[in-house]
Amino acid sequence: MFQRILVANRGEIALRVIRACRDLGIEVVAVFSEADRGAPYLQYADQAICIGPALAGDSYLKIARIISAAEVANVQAIHPGYGFLSENAHFAEVCRACKIEFIGPSEDAMRRLGNKNEARKLAKQANVPVVPGSAGLITDESQAMSVAQEMGYPVLIKAAAGGGGRGMRVARNDISLKSGLHAAVQEAESAFKDGSVYIEKYIEQPRHIEIQLLGDRHGNVVHLYERDCSLQRRHQKLVEESAAPNLPEAVRQKICECAVRLAKEAGYYNAGTCEFLLDKDNNFYFIEVNARIQVEHPVTELVTGIDLIKQQIRIAAGEKLSFTQKDITHRGHAIECRINAEDPANNFRATAGTITRWQPPGGPGIRLDTHVCQGYRVPHNYDSMIAKLLVWQPTRAEAIACMKRALSEFVVEGIKTTIPIHREIMQNNAFIEGRVDTTFIERTWLQQKS
Ligand code: ADP
Repeated sequence: MFQRILVANRGEIALRVIRACRDLGIEVVAVFSEADRGAPYLQYADQAICIGPALAGDSYLKIARIISAAEVANVQAIHPGYGFLSENAHFAEVCRACKIEFIGPSEDAMRRLGNKNEARKLAKQANVPVVPGSAGLITDESQAMSVAQEMGYPVLIKAAAGGGGRGMRVARNDISLKSGLHAAVQEAESAFKDGSVYIEKYIEQPRHIEIQLLGDRHGNVVHLYERDCSLQRRHQKLVEESAAPNLPEAVRQKICECAVRLAKEAGYYNAGTCEFLLDKDNNFYFIEVNARIQVEHPVTELVTGIDLIKQQIRIAAGEKLSFTQKDITHRGHAIECRINAEDPANNFRATAGTITRWQPPGGPGIRLDTHVCQGYRVPHNYDSMIAKLLVWQPTRAEAIACMKRALSEFVVEGIKTTIPIHREIMQNNAFIEGRVDTTFIERTWLQQKS
């Protein structure tokens, strides 16, 4: 086992990894940018090293600086968290060259799955259903047009290197296809330095169902059931839960089996997530693999009792999984609400500033993953998520009731947050009945508001 690990991230996930290391008796080194200097969560690490200015490109994304910190601190492994360098195969390669273990999948698996177009090919090979779409990349307008016409509108133009909902455009006719193609390529070029796109059939009002996977370096792969992440705003998840409501058991089993099959085909190890869309007739289609730990991983931890961060560390250290598929049970119901420093009343604009009052909820069944506290200054430089509020209860109805209560207790002052929207969601009949899809917020909630 490792004696010392560096966390190449910030905020709640950095603290989550720091805590896992402490629980495992591993020394842990944090890194921080100038914008995070003095952040209270850094005190929980054994050592904290400044890696540069606020701009992520010069600090959290700067491989040379992270590696220097790792060498100075003399760590044996690096946990990348999510975002930043977590899906950067080159970073994993540099770690290996420096004889530092990268806590994640192999560079090869990251490369194959990091590109959505390649991942689709792999899924097809593994006999996993993919969203109908172009055979490969789209190179010009006329090709796009013939693919779209053959498939039938609406279609979705997607960046192969895409992530975070960027580089995606829906097209409902030839005209919007032309403009969407142009916009998607441009967005992908500026965001990912890779403008390659492909086309998928746009699934109307789908649900987003994803499967948590764990694989070791000895060829064992297991699934830890599903998470339903259908509640999204602009393709960004707001609420996640497990079990997925109203999902027939046979379909659930099939999706889980497909995810494991794909992971095996890719030679995948460590933690990963296989994402699917589910249409109204419960047909499911693979969309992508997230080759890293995800924001919503605690949902799965609550229903399975398996600590995913500890598992990631053990797997990276070469240990075999200590359980098999049949040992993994799904118990009760968990819900996560992402608390973002955003103003729902002002088109979810990110808000920065000092938290003047922070009164978190408590009591049975509640878990709050956060790095903030009263007096914390939310920097404007990074992702707006400041906390993840989770509940676990024996049934979904009880989990919703518990979340409602937790949200009513939660007091945050000084900055605007998404707490009010979560309070409304928990009272919404469509949500309570488990009838929401990925377009729900835009389609109903925001329309009612305006
Ligand atoms: P990203 O990597 O940018 O998050 P994903 O491929 O994971 O992109 O898709 C994010 C979200 O976009 C999905 O959860 C879903 O809401 C929507 N989406 C993606 N593909 C499709 C599709 N073919 N039809 C309808 N919605 C889609």
